[in-house]
Parts: sequence; structure tokens; C-alpha cells
Amino acid sequence: MEAPLIQVKDLVKYFPVKKLFITVGQVHAVDGVSFEIMRGETFGLVGESGSGKTTLGRLMLRLLTPTSGDVVYNGRSIFELEGGELKEFRRRAQIVFQDPYTSLNPRMTIYDILSEPINVHKIRIPDKREYIVKLLETVGLGEEHLYRYPHEFSGGQKQRIAIARVLALRPEFTVLDEPTSALDVSVQAQILNMLKELQSEFKFTYLFISHDLSVVKFMSHRIAVMYVGKIIEVAPSDDLFSEPLHPYTQMLLSALPVPDPKYTRSKQIIKPRGQVPSAISPPPGCRFHPRCPFAREKCKAEEPELREVKPSRLVACHLYS
Ligand code: SF4
Repeated sequence: MEAPLIQVKDLVKYFPVKKLFITVGQVHAVDGVSFEIMRGETFGLVGESGSGKTTLGRLMLRLLTPTSGDVVYNGRSIFELEGGELKEFRRRAQIVFQDPYTSLNPRMTIYDILSEPINVHKIRIPDKREYIVKLLETVGLGEEHLYRYPHEFSGGQKQRIAIARVLALRPEFTVLDEPTSALDVSVQAQILNMLKELQSEFKFTYLFISHDLSVVKFMSHRIAVMYVGKIIEVAPSDDLFSEPLHPYTQMLLSALPVPDPKYTRSKQIIKPRGQVPSAISPPPGCRFHPRCPFAREKCKAEEPELREVKPSRLVACHLYS
């Protein structure tokens, strides 16, 4: 069996909460997360705002230092890389940010924006201009856009340019952090289809972060669901939607609107109680227990482990122990 490209091992990231320079608490942004991503796979990460998805993506690119735990890329811990090895990792692992309006320097032309990673990483190409025109064509733009500035483009075109900048380095692994959430629905579809086509052409591996379940389903081979810093379910995309196991996943899916006026729900909608707890003082035991309609005494005291309950199905819930 092929070895995974990335292994996340018991990763933890706490941010201090300070008042008058004194640490009074910690935000448990990512709290003991483990999973693997195979080469060529799209691994989806869903969860509500503040569940730790973006922090996890940034830890996996070494844009943040973890409190503890490790990320192993191609068999090496990314936190041990230095010098030339770290620079090579920076070339291989890239990110597309959520907001295309702020991720491009407004003072640079598109040619300069796309030249920058090539220059920084000293990519040897016979004709840089021709290479950049090809990159633009790959994302549906053209030579006529070369010397324009970011403000001359729509949101969808800006995101295409941001993706072309990533493609310039031919990365193996890309974190797509809500890459279409700032775009209109019709433009979203174009960008998502383009990302899929690029993956099949260049064998990219993606971590696809989103709070939009239908978008994640469309893009991902497997999906992990996050809740207050923890992964509570991992499943192949179709299985998660046809048979969600964790009560929180069931709740998320039952709230998903169905675009069919004749549709009537055959299953009962699971309504959670209360609000998402604070990541500064998460509840003891299962973090979902104050909201879970199936909570029992054990759930308040004992934290459920993420474990395999069926082939390829991992769930952290006492209902399955
Ligand atoms: Fe609900 Fe208990 Fe399962 Fe948590 S462990 S999701 S509280 S049943």
C-alpha cells in the first residue's frame, strides 16, 4: 500500500489569552488531531466558524508552530526542516487563501505577481514570459491580462490568478482555505471545476477547508468533521452524506437545505440545544455533550476517542463504544 503524503500526529495548538500582559487562559484551537492524507487525495475539512479548520491548515504548512504534536510530510517532520530542505517544502506545499481581494498585491502587475514565486524559488525555465502566459491560460485567462493590476479583475478572476501563482511552483500539496466562499455561486462552480481538472492533470493533493457541506462533498474523497478543535468523524464523502454517524454530523446534515420544492423530509431533523461552547473553556468529556440529544452520564466525564467503528469510518462518540 502506498505511504501517505502527510501524517498529522496528535497535533495541538493553543493560543494564549492575555489581559494586561498576564495569561489568563488558552484558546484550544486544535486539540489532539490525527489523520493522514494520501497522494492525489482531496481531504475535506468541515466545521462551524472557530472550530479550528484554518489553524489546522496553517499548522500543516508550518505557518504556525504547534504547542505539541507533529506533521510528517514525505516521511519527514516539517518542524525539523531547515535551510534548503525547508525552502523545498515551501515550494511543494502551497495555500490558496479565502479572500482573493487581499491575497494579491495591488501595486504589482499580474506578470510581477506570477514572477515572484519563480524568482524566489529560482525555478529554471527557458522563457519566463511564455511560462507565465501558459499559467494564465491554464486558469482561463490570457496574455492580454499580463500587465494589468488586480483591481482590474473580478473576484473570480482574482482567485484564478491566486491559483495560477500556486501552480507556478507545481506544488504536490495545496491547502485550499475556503477558496470560493467570497465568490458568486456561478463563479464558485467554475473555480471548483477548474481545481478538480488541475488535480487530475497534475496529481495534486488537496486539503479542502470549508463550512459549506455541499461544496466539500463535491470536492472531497474523504471528509473530516471538526468541532471545537477536535475531529469527531472521518468518512469517505458519499458515506458521510448517506449515513452520518456522529450526532453533530447528523445535525449538520439535517440542517442542509434541499433544492427541491416537492421534497419532504422523511427523517427527523436533529435539533441541538444551546450554543457552540467557547474554545477557551471547552466542556469536559465529549465537547458536544451540552448540545447532544443523546448525551448520557458517561459523555460528561469521559472524552470519546476517534476510532474505527466500520471499515473506513472513524467516529468519536460513546454511542459506538
Ligand atoms: Fe452525544 Fe455522548 Fe456521542 Fe458526545 S459522546 S456525541 S454527548 S452521545
